[in-house]
Amino acid sequence: MGALQASSKIAVVGAGVGGLSTAIALVQQGFEVQVYERAQALRPVGAGLTLSPNGLNSLAAIHPEMVETLKQAGSHTRIAHLKKSTGELILSQPVRLAQQFGQPMLNIRWSRLQEILAQVLPTDIIHLNHCCTGFKQSDTAVVVHFRNQKSIEADLLIGADGINSMVRQTLLRDGSPRYRGRLSWRAVVPYPSKLLPPDEVTIVTAPDGKNCLWVDAGEGYLFWSVMALEHDGSLSLDPQSTKLRVLEIVSGWAEPVPTIIGNTPAHLIMERPIFDRPPVKSWSQGRVTLLGDAAHPVVPSIGQGANMAFEDACELIYCLSQCSTLEAAFDAYETQRIPRTEVIYARSAYQGDRAYQPDSETALRELINPSQWRQEEFDNWLYSYKPVLSKN
Ligand SMILES: Cc1cc2nc3c(=O)[nH]c(=O)nc-3n(C[C@H](O)[C@H](O)[C@H](O)COP(=O)(O)OP(=O)(O)OC[C@H]3O[C@@H](n4cnc5c(N)ncnc54)[C@H](O)[C@@H]3O)c2cc1C
Repeated sequence: MGALQASSKIAVVGAGVGGLSTAIALVQQGFEVQVYERAQALRPVGAGLTLSPNGLNSLAAIHPEMVETLKQAGSHTRIAHLKKSTGELILSQPVRLAQQFGQPMLNIRWSRLQEILAQVLPTDIIHLNHCCTGFKQSDTAVVVHFRNQKSIEADLLIGADGINSMVRQTLLRDGSPRYRGRLSWRAVVPYPSKLLPPDEVTIVTAPDGKNCLWVDAGEGYLFWSVMALEHDGSLSLDPQSTKLRVLEIVSGWAEPVPTIIGNTPAHLIMERPIFDRPPVKSWSQGRVTLLGDAAHPVVPSIGQGANMAFEDACELIYCLSQCSTLEAAFDAYETQRIPRTEVIYARSAYQGDRAYQPDSETALRELINPSQWRQEEFDNWLYSYKPVLSKN
């Protein structure tokens, strides 16, 4: 059992994709874990995610059958298109990740992913309506406090509570995340199969700092997102003004963009500012560590935030089971994870900034066509990641 005993109490704060995958890995390794989530229910979130071979191989090392279920539920991208906002095709590129790295590029609704992860866990270990307000630790235990006046005691606390992590604030006190000068709007809607072929992703770019993406998210759904430079980051007042704002951004663009957005009910559109945090040297102290966006939030330009959280889950659980003390386990976890996540942070930030410059077309062409700009070398490094748990 390494740094922990089978009887050790482990608390995970946050039932997002990082917290749930970590809890599954802990249960699979025979540890006792409880997950504390601030939401009242695991509600559907109007977003989709792209999972790549590194993330899926990490999940497969944790629970292989779960990955098969995910692959049934999502769509496997077979072709990526890049277009101008005028509708002119810039590039179409087959996506062959499954052949190269053993797992596809998988698009799935966020809510479906969360549901499949949660289904693998015993229902009584997820505690909803538990908003963490901080913790205090000693040599022997960590006490976690919640807004509902409850407190729990654990041997180990894992903060998987996202980009505005309260666990991180209590641990590192390093302030708020950094606004990166753009807003995103996202929604999941029924798939308009007459309008669009399945298993494709299309990215549309305009030279004035605006991009749009739509993708088959599986099971009859389409996921779209629009991002635009917005220097002050102010949010819309209500769903109707949110929708009008997105329609304004894509006004004059070629179909199907205006139709996809025009047909989306306003209340389904999620508006969110884009933030990240510069990398830090450590994520752990005493009995507490961080994982996923709580540890290393990046801008969503190369679709790696959730994938990195799955890698973290694998690595942390391996270190906890192999090392003889918590200190050694956290050292090993950080040694494995910090350098890799720093590279992904830098690449995401660079790619994110370029995708909104007047030469966005070139930047996105390089991203999609891996024969250019050493993109192939980076993709090989990123996607060929082999989770340490799978080597046992
Ligand atoms: C526009 C956009 C597109 C993206 N696209 C992709 C993509 O295609 N592929 C990809 O891999 N990643 C993508 N990401 C990034 C991805 O969403 C995140 O990296 C991922 O969700 C991180 O997972 P997490 O579990 O660490 O945090 P989260 O998903 O944020 O989960 C944190 C959980 O903690 C809970 N919580 C928060 N505070 C507390 C508290 N105080 N107490 C208790 N619970 C709390 C929250 O309610 C939530 O359930 C995208 C992000 C954005 C913004």
